[in-house]
Amino acid sequence: MSSLKLPVSVLTGVGLQTVSRLHKLQLYTLQDLLFHLPLRYEDRTNVRTISSLIVGTSALVRGRIEQVAIMPSGRKTLVCHINDGSGVLVLKFFHYFPTQYQALKYGDTLQCFGEVRFGFNDGLEMVHPEYQLLTENEAVVTENALTPIYPNTEGLNQSILRRAVLQALQRCDAELHDYLPDNLLQHFSYPDFRSALQQIHAPKETIHPLAFQRLAHEELIVHYLSMRCAKLQAKRWQAPIFHANKKTEKVFLKSLPFKLTGAQQRVIAEIYADCESPQPMLRLVQGDVGSGKTLVAAMAALLAISNGYQVALMVPTELLAEQHYRNFSMWFAPFNYQILFLTGQLKGKAREQGLKALAAGEIQLVIGTHALFQEQVQFQKLGLIIIDEQHRFGVDQRLALRDKGENGEMRPHQLVMTATPIPRTLAMMQYADLDVSVIDELPPNRQPVITRVLPTQRRDEVIAKINDWVTKKRQAYWVCTLIEESDVLQGEAAESTAHFLTQMLPKVRVGLVHGRMKAAEKDAIMQAFKNHELDLLVATTVIEVGVDVPNSGLMIIENPERLGLSQLHQLRGRVGRGEGESYCLLLYSALPEMARKRLSIMREHHDGFVIAEKDLQLRGAGELLGTRQKGQLRFKTVNPEQHGHLFEMVSEWGNEVFTAAPENVPLLIERWLGSAVNYVEV
Ligand code: ADP
Ligand code: MG
Repeated sequence: MSSLKLPVSVLTGVGLQTVSRLHKLQLYTLQDLLFHLPLRYEDRTNVRTISSLIVGTSALVRGRIEQVAIMPSGRKTLVCHINDGSGVLVLKFFHYFPTQYQALKYGDTLQCFGEVRFGFNDGLEMVHPEYQLLTENEAVVTENALTPIYPNTEGLNQSILRRAVLQALQRCDAELHDYLPDNLLQHFSYPDFRSALQQIHAPKETIHPLAFQRLAHEELIVHYLSMRCAKLQAKRWQAPIFHANKKTEKVFLKSLPFKLTGAQQRVIAEIYADCESPQPMLRLVQGDVGSGKTLVAAMAALLAISNGYQVALMVPTELLAEQHYRNFSMWFAPFNYQILFLTGQLKGKAREQGLKALAAGEIQLVIGTHALFQEQVQFQKLGLIIIDEQHRFGVDQRLALRDKGENGEMRPHQLVMTATPIPRTLAMMQYADLDVSVIDELPPNRQPVITRVLPTQRRDEVIAKINDWVTKKRQAYWVCTLIEESDVLQGEAAESTAHFLTQMLPKVRVGLVHGRMKAAEKDAIMQAFKNHELDLLVATTVIEVGVDVPNSGLMIIENPERLGLSQLHQLRGRVGRGEGESYCLLLYSALPEMARKRLSIMREHHDGFVIAEKDLQLRGAGELLGTRQKGQLRFKTVNPEQHGHLFEMVSEWGNEVFTAAPENVPLLIERWLGSAVNYVEV
């Protein structure tokens, strides 16, 4: 067995308690330890002169004690001045023992190590440095290498972690092979894999400036390769061949009140071409909010159904499922298709009947939430899976649904849609297992939503604006945001806002939707809003995805500073769908610098891709890839902020590895992803 896979418990000095703390850091095997990289280093190799100290760095200093005192002001502080001939450094201790104070004597020599900061009177100081008293001619104790400082967790100290990593390095030494092709290493002047790791964990004199980047680059390439493998593997499956049915298409398109945009037509053609081949389609459709992705989905569904196959359409919220259900029922009315609406709310007899009909092939299209990949849901002949707003789902959920359609060598086609445009460089990484189509055109006559950023003190003006707006027979949204992810609190906040607005606006018919309401209740309210029996819809961010009511052209978002830009862009996408001007008022309560910058991006830009790029520049890739992109990419050594420039080249170099050293690909994947790769395998 490879040493790399040994559990951390094999190391000396690593007992049960340390094991559990290492596990907390996601460190299970020796290999994990090797990829646990230092955050920074401390330099105890040289004594620095006080005059050469740099604020913000740590340093080792030696000097003579010039002054020792307890400062009585506020909390008692032990203060000690040392002088090394080049300058004076002040040491401060807020906690100390009396013996400590007594031991520090005027004229004695002391060595200390700590972070240098500016103190009072612009002097340099260290707070709670490590220190040691030296006899007059005793040399300072230096170390002969930099000391790595690792990310750690409570109860686990640096020296234990350091020793564990060093042992891991020793035991695995013979296995630290280079799997990247030479030309890549030469092109970037990278050190080899083994010396990169050694220099990082056990530095001698210097660390190769590219040692960290070399690891990050390898890891990025491996992510790309694993996705490419997943794609290649998926393409080896068989899929049903769908032939276009011109007559059905014509009937469908004729019933629409508008013509498809050029971009919609192009993407539909790409989908149809995919489905004419006997391999499963794996296509992502990216299109800004309001670009008309639903129709593209409908055309794809039409293709599968008219070829005698079933279609599953999965969406992240019940609200959106209901809306799609209504739209598809209307669009497919000429064809007499059976459509099932399946969410967690469908229970009892109705559910039983629905599932039975689905398994018997009497249902052509099922629309639902993640309830779709429960075990009891069986298809007779699933030919196409469509996932809308895919960024809300994890990779594993996407794959679970794909398995539903497994039938011998046959797999369903897959269409994935997302409105959260992420910058191209990130998209190439994240969706390397998919072919990508972009709807880069909005339906005609759309006007940019006029966006204003206002302090919450101007709420009264905003309320007056709603009154005017509604008098003109138009509708509006009022979106409440809360920091807490709790549905209950969000619901309560929305309720009290709805109550308040009802009182302030006696002539306005106010409705309320939030995540805690029963599906039937939500449905009734949404339907009433759509039918213009309500003028103002107060909502939580549940309406963020997909909701479509063209007459509603005014949106107020409370505390927009709490939301990410792409989420704001999605919310704002609910308006500007009909005729005439539309507005989005961002009603903030507190606006620190960063938030101000972000909201002004919303005011100035209307293209989701541009907004995503700007957001990337402001916040860095870490956050963009982080919280809202569930279950997608998790890195060990890549820091998207530092290594962003490598993303762009990753497909190029990844393909190079494929051609130059295909035999290394599985080894690389094993090294970096180990068993985690199972979830990208198809
Ligand atoms: P999204 O891409 O955000 O899912 P939708 O599919 O909800 O967008 O479409 C937004 C709105 O645009 C809907 O009201 C839809 O009926 C309308 N729409 C879609 N395609 C066209 C088109 N080609 N011309 C005019 N309106 C369209
Ligand atoms: Mg949509």
